[in-house]
Amino acid sequence: MTDETLLETRGLTKEFKGFVAVDNVDLRVKRGTIHALIGPNGAGKTTVFNLLTKFLPPTRGTIHYKGSDITRDNPADVARRGVIRSFQISAVFPNLSVLENVRVALQRKSTGSQFAFWKSDKTLDKLNDAALAILDRVGLKDFAQVHAGALAYGRKRTLEIATTLAMDPEMMLLDEPTAGMGHEDVDRVRDLIKEVAKGRTVLMVEHNMSVVSGICDIITVLQRGAILAEGPYAEVARNPQVIEAYMGT
Ligand code: ADP
Repeated sequence: MTDETLLETRGLTKEFKGFVAVDNVDLRVKRGTIHALIGPNGAGKTTVFNLLTKFLPPTRGTIHYKGSDITRDNPADVARRGVIRSFQISAVFPNLSVLENVRVALQRKSTGSQFAFWKSDKTLDKLNDAALAILDRVGLKDFAQVHAGALAYGRKRTLEIATTLAMDPEMMLLDEPTAGMGHEDVDRVRDLIKEVAKGRTVLMVEHNMSVVSGICDIITVLQRGAILAEGPYAEVARNPQVIEAYMGT
């Protein structure tokens, strides 16, 4: 971890027809950290992700990435800068094999398009090798030839991480990577995130406190669109306002 700020929002605000979903948020994500965004349902976490990846324009406020103002970028610009959100490309293609899904993501990284199908055999071999290396890293190598649609839920979510990784992001945005998983899958995915976060920066929305406390360096707690508390888990977990926000929902 360094002190360098990678992503910074100032006064980030999103209103939907007068309803303030994200309220004047100043968020700073430091390079090399795993940063969690937590909060009760409706707190504005997904909207913050949508604003950061430019799926939604802010009503007010600015977003800077590595010092550049990206407030007016479009989603493709943000991805080109190296900020990749898991579901953007996790549109896991169910009828393609696990290997092909990762290959598509790799092609997209190298060509900027997921529809670059015409490749020489040599290029395809290289892509296959690279895809297999990624599957090996995430523990899905044995499933390379399985249709993605046939994977069990936990493995499908792992494939999302694999396709995100294939884009070689500088910053990964993970949206509830362990949601709906059993204990074993949660532990596996938690360890995997820690592993793939090496040399990158991760911002994740996560509800599972064992994941948050286990791997996250900094936690930002949102409530009704605003930052309620921020800091390392131990500090945030004993904040009376945070305790009340969670008990009260
Ligand atoms: P979280 O991800 O923390 O559960 P969301 O960001 O999904 O919260 O939602 C925050 C608030 O904004 C909620 O009250 C939600 O109903 C509202 N909201 C989100 N998207 C829209 C939209 N497109 N139009 C109107 N209200 C929205």
